[in-house]
This record gives sequence, C-alpha cells and structure tokens, in this order.
Amino acid sequence: MERLALGDFELTVFSDGTYYLDGGAFFGVVPKVMWSRKVKADEQNRVVVGLNSLLVRTGKHNVLIETGIGNKLSEKMAKIYGQPAKLLENLSAGGIAPDDIDVVINTHLHFDHCGWNTVRKNGQVVATFPKAQYYAQEGEWQHGRRQHERDAISYISENYDPLIDNGQMHLLHGDQEIVPGVFANIFRGHTANMQAVIIKSDGKTACYISDLIPTTAHLDLTWVMGFDLFPLETIESRKSYYAQAVPEQWLTVFTHDPNMPWAHLERNEAGKIMVRGR
Ligand SMILES: [Zn+2]
Repeated sequence: MERLALGDFELTVFSDGTYYLDGGAFFGVVPKVMWSRKVKADEQNRVVVGLNSLLVRTGKHNVLIETGIGNKLSEKMAKIYGQPAKLLENLSAGGIAPDDIDVVINTHLHFDHCGWNTVRKNGQVVATFPKAQYYAQEGEWQHGRRQHERDAISYISENYDPLIDNGQMHLLHGDQEIVPGVFANIFRGHTANMQAVIIKSDGKTACYISDLIPTTAHLDLTWVMGFDLFPLETIESRKSYYAQAVPEQWLTVFTHDPNMPWAHLERNEAGKIMVRGR
C-alpha cells in the first residue's frame, strides 16, 4: 500500500494482486529483444502485470478509481489470466470497508478494470460498494454491448449491467467533473472512449492514466499495447498528455505496473520521456 498527500487530498494505491498477460500482446509491435530488457517473460512468454486501484480521499468523498479483476471470472478465464482477488482484503487492511466508498470510476469496462464493481451474493450479482455511485463512459458501454469479434472477451456484462439496471451506474458523455477536484477526461487509443482520471487539489495534480500508459515500461510514444484498438491515436493521446503532465509536474498513476504504481515524469536530453530521477 502506497500513500501520499496531494494538496488537501490523500491518495492511496490498493492492489487487486497481479495477473498474467502474453508479453507480445502487452508490447504490441515492439520486438521481444527490446521489451525483455525491461520486463522478464516466463517460459510461456507471460509477463506479470499489476492491478492498481487508486483511492482518493478528498475529505468529502472517498473515490475509488478502478476495481481490478474481482472474483467472478469463469474457471477457464481464471486459468488463463489468474484471479488474485485481493482488492477487498487490501482495502480492509487499510481500514476501508465497502460501505465507505462513495464513488467508483471505471476508466473503461475491460474485465481487468471493473471486476470488483459487483459480487455474486445468494445467486444474484449485486454492487460490491452498496453506497457508491459508479461512473463509466456511455460510448465504452455501447462498444462492450456490441460484443465485437475483436474484443468481446474483454467485456463481461455482469461487471456493469446490474448497476445500470439498479441506477447505481451513471453513463457519461465525454469529459466531466465527477466530484470537486476529480475529473474524467477521454484519451482515445486503447479504446475509443477510455477516460483517464485527473485529480486536482491546492495546485497539485495527479492523473490515473489507465491503459493509455499501462506501466513505466510503456512510456515511449511508440511502445503501444497490441490490445489497443487505435494505436495511432494512442501515440497522439500520449503526446498531448506528456505536453501537459511533464511541464506541470503531474504525478502519473500506472494501472498495470506491478513495481511502480506512480511516478513523476521528465523529458531527457534526447526528448524521451523517463521516470523522473531515474
Ligand atoms: Zn483495457
């Protein structure tokens, strides 16, 4: 658990554990001889991937960004990806009960980002955080519903449809301030409607950048995941993110980095984006 103050807010990273992805898919067109210098693959070419959720305590609201894989995967999917299901126990160890969460934000609706939105209870799928208002993008939900051949496996409707049916999940149409100081902003590339969450308090800024830059190994503009639906737009979105986040010294939060959940970024003499002080 890592914690810091951002202005008047408090930020804490809570992990749902780690899981596995194919190293080739994780690094797209980047040759293995290059990415394997940064991240080691196992004998099945899998790499270990983090599941970092961020809790923002504003003083008025407890906002949870992303809810990991959860505990509802099918046996087959759990075998492929792993299902660590650690988020609730890690929240509890940090003194946070499900009832304490006021707001849940999903950057997009892939199963590894919204799994703990819901749990199965007495044969029904219900909200894990009973008092929370949940937020996701309407366009992302529509895409998931389409069950496109390319990425249907990524969208498990039990993670969000029960919350839309009971009125707990609100579907956004573009950028919006969710609670004072917490903003959802769309960055296209990974999906058409993926939103990052920008957090501002007392002149300080942090950004949960989600799958636009999943780990510190993906900082290079062209190190784009094979999963991304619009890789050229990922590059453009990263450019516009760095153009603001580097000079303004934003703290960047990485969803999938198992070792470094957050960092400040800098541009080196060659113009490459690096973790500051590395
Ligand atoms: Zn994703």
